[in-house]
Amino acid sequence: MSARILDGKAVAAEITAALADRAKTLAETPGLAVILVGEDPASQVYVRNKGKTAERLGYRHWQIDLPADTTEDRLLAEVRRLNDDPKVHGILVQFPVPKQIRQERVVDTIDPRKDVDGLHPRNAGLLAQRRDGFVPCTPAGVMELLKRTGEPLSGRDAIVIGRSNLVGKPMVQLLEQMDCTVTLAHSRTRDLAGHVQRAEIVIAAVGRAEMVKGAWIRPGALVIDVGINRLPDGRLVGDVEFAAARERAAWITPVPGGVGPMTIAMLMANTLRAAQR
Ligand code: NDP
Repeated sequence: MSARILDGKAVAAEITAALADRAKTLAETPGLAVILVGEDPASQVYVRNKGKTAERLGYRHWQIDLPADTTEDRLLAEVRRLNDDPKVHGILVQFPVPKQIRQERVVDTIDPRKDVDGLHPRNAGLLAQRRDGFVPCTPAGVMELLKRTGEPLSGRDAIVIGRSNLVGKPMVQLLEQMDCTVTLAHSRTRDLAGHVQRAEIVIAAVGRAEMVKGAWIRPGALVIDVGINRLPDGRLVGDVEFAAARERAAWITPVPGGVGPMTIAMLMANTLRAAQR
């Protein structure tokens, strides 16, 4: 059996087209501000793609580039300025930030009503209590992809590999809300292979090239690969050994073209919601 491909690029295009139509009907044009500190090449690409998508949708968009030696106080002052600007509905600080800046302080300073990345403890708490807040974009995008398979999720055994605040932890909560039985694996997990072999849904969010072996995948599983890893030869691969996993899974996401475009689409959805509020 060869898995069906979950085409994140196509789904994201569908979602963003609908958002562009909705944005036109709003009294206020959605506005997204993205802050980039330093010149990390991968972050530059992500920030550029977010900006291009915002513009394509007819949103207002600001990119604020700060030098790598920016102090924490300077960055927090910029965040507060955006908090106070009524034209700005969504604020995103691209992580990682340089070492002199504490990520937690940045997250805590963003107005939770403008926290379109869903990282503020208030939004994380709302998600944990199944209440209405901003959900982090990548796990929200993964849920959209899972829904598009048309497969029932209730009662199924899922594994999330990776426990970051940005991806793994909110992912666990969203799957639990769909009544999955969820295992959360991390770097101290014993027998990862055994856990993956039992899972009907596998979400890999580690950042280690092809660490989830195709042979571990339970036949018929849904496999979502969040990882983005650049090999020495320049190729981008995920956390899952794609070719081998594809022979066993029922559905699988490619890298690139799977979760990545969905993350941006969900960022645009959150920004529109922030403008609607
Ligand atoms: P983090 O580095 O914050 O977290 C990685 C997690 O993987 C940690 O919880 C770590 O465990 C766990 N881990 C590390 N080694 C192992 C191992 N051998 N076995 C099991 N678990 C392990 O990464 P992020 O969550 O931010 O991102 C994960 C990946 O997803 C990255 O490749 C990133 O580039 C990608 N990403 C992609 C996005 C997209 O739009 N497609 C968006 C965001 C991220 P521990 O906690 O014990 O250290």
